[in-house]
Amino acid sequence: MRNIFLILFLILSLNAFGQASIQYDIVLTGGRVIDPETKLDAIRNVGIQNGRIMMVSSDPLAGKETVNVSGMVVAPGFIDLHVHGMVNIEQEYQLHDGVTTALELEWGIEHTGAWYASRQGNALIHYGASVCWPFERMKAMERYQSNVDELLAQVKNKEANRQNFFHAAGPSFLEDQTPEEMAQTLVNIKSALKEGGIGIGVPIGYLPDTKPAEMYSVFELAGQLNALVYTHNREPNILSSQEVIANAMLTGAPLHIVHINSMSLGQIDFALKMVSTAAQKGFDITTELYPYTAASTGLMTAMFNEGWQEKLGIDYGDLQLVATGERLTQETFTRHRRTNQYVIMHMMQPEWIARGIAAPGVIIGSDGMPYSKLAHPRTAGTFSRVLGKYVREDQVLDLNTAIEKMTLLPAKRLEGIAPMMRFKGRIQVGADADITVFDPNTIIDKATFEGGLEFSEGIEYVLVNGTFVLKNGETVPNVFPGQGVYGKFKK
Ligand SMILES: [Zn+2]
Repeated sequence: MRNIFLILFLILSLNAFGQASIQYDIVLTGGRVIDPETKLDAIRNVGIQNGRIMMVSSDPLAGKETVNVSGMVVAPGFIDLHVHGMVNIEQEYQLHDGVTTALELEWGIEHTGAWYASRQGNALIHYGASVCWPFERMKAMERYQSNVDELLAQVKNKEANRQNFFHAAGPSFLEDQTPEEMAQTLVNIKSALKEGGIGIGVPIGYLPDTKPAEMYSVFELAGQLNALVYTHNREPNILSSQEVIANAMLTGAPLHIVHINSMSLGQIDFALKMVSTAAQKGFDITTELYPYTAASTGLMTAMFNEGWQEKLGIDYGDLQLVATGERLTQETFTRHRRTNQYVIMHMMQPEWIARGIAAPGVIIGSDGMPYSKLAHPRTAGTFSRVLGKYVREDQVLDLNTAIEKMTLLPAKRLEGIAPMMRFKGRIQVGADADITVFDPNTIIDKATFEGGLEFSEGIEYVLVNGTFVLKNGETVPNVFPGQGVYGKFKK
């Protein structure tokens, strides 16, 4: 807290005594500035200095570099708390979608400290990850030591990705833990939190045979530490939502349920009602969704265990292979499952998604996938799609509410576990200069299920820590201002 007040004091002093003579590093002039926290929505000039927003004013401001952004919206940079891309090829798509902070929280990351070190100084936008419960669990099982080492080598060589991870760790997902291994898992999670992990990623849907008592022990630890838990629920049904909500209420663990759309399918209204009721009763429980009617994952995962057609309400022909775009048959399903090919699963109705996007307090998170030309379009288009399709075209929600769901709400969700998020998600004096400037009349996603990933349109400028990473709709070459976002336990 003290730092905030010191910064504010310095800024106010400058404003009172030196405004006329200040020359900011960058000034954005004439834009429609939208700040969801103060409810500011007005034409303002924004002065940026040393990576922070130093002035928001209707008076003219002097800058070393001045950019006229009239006709455009000046919003806080979008915060995506659910991505799986680990490197800059994915970050560039996110950047063109207006994202300035992209965090892997659903799964988390293996070898937390080493991974953060591998990203330092070479990221386009801010990065961060939770502690990966499935990894810390495997690490507690001594017979998997060589798999643990193999993953460390990949992290150090900047080759960490979800597919490699699944190959190395997947076999352990099928094994029960002894009481000693369960205890060691909790020790491992605590030490990874000290390396900077932003809470605990608990994708139990990929380890659905995990004993309830084992899962509960992870929530107990999270409750004791007040560490945020992110869950991909055990199964795509209401009982599984009730399981994690009950665990959170009983243990006091803060809980964020990822992609409520694919977790609850046609029961999304009921699932959202449970989350909002829990919040009204004072429990720290939130959720998110992505604006698409299809899901995506690997064929080898537990998602496709016996009985998947019934659980998901789909059949082979609803699965689209990411590698080629083809729809599957029973025969090609069996073949591609052996090599854990990624698929897109067409399994949701448009009205479920629209209702989820409009629901109060629900955050927008992309669940962006590792790069592949035909990867799920959410990887590149989530935020522009909400602003172009759901705000402008379909009028499912208003512009200010949509911006709040992609900036202030995720920042506030994470402030308790990552205090530096207090400086993000806002266009206010003293906030980090993470800013997205877009044309509300043209913004739209361009990535599709058929054509694959494309940069979104209408995002014109993006600043990360006061540095332009996107200018006139083009990536600025050779700038890497992205910094690590760390959890509060970092030593
Ligand atoms: Zn998931």
